[in-house]
Amino acid sequence: MKNDKAIEIFKDFLKRGKYRITPERFEVLEAALQHEGHFGADDLYVKMKNTKSVISRATVYNTLELLAQCELISKRNFGDNMTRFESNFKRQTHDHLICVDCGRIIEFTDPRIKKIPQEICDNFDFEFHSYSFNIFGRCKNKKDCLNKK
Ligand SMILES: [Zn+2]
Ligand SMILES: [Zn+2]
Repeated sequence: MKNDKAIEIFKDFLKRGKYRITPERFEVLEAALQHEGHFGADDLYVKMKNTKSVISRATVYNTLELLAQCELISKRNFGDNMTRFESNFKRQTHDHLICVDCGRIIEFTDPRIKKIPQEICDNFDFEFHSYSFNIFGRCKNKKDCLNKK
């Protein structure tokens, strides 16, 4: 199975943190890795319910937190006070450009951004952990904008 490595990482993380290892937690892991793009905890909960899962909302919420802690998924905030997640597993690090009118999200990578967090950490004698970088703007071409007024 293709997600074996992720399952192993998560299992180790749960063991080290003395969290209970339950099949439900791995069900959430599987669903989170399968989800395309960015999603809210409720999106995932509803999606799992639609596939006849008996998972509880609380389990989805707290398992997503644990998956973010062990860095299998990332937590994102795109400026609308809603936490979203996305899979990190087998994906390239990227940043986000967000339209403040319609919420359209472009993912991009730029080598210039990549080296900055490490340099800043070095300057202030920090050990690098993670960074988040969002650019907010407006779609110039109204044809692209999802907020059709
Ligand atoms: Zn993304
Ligand atoms: Zn837009």
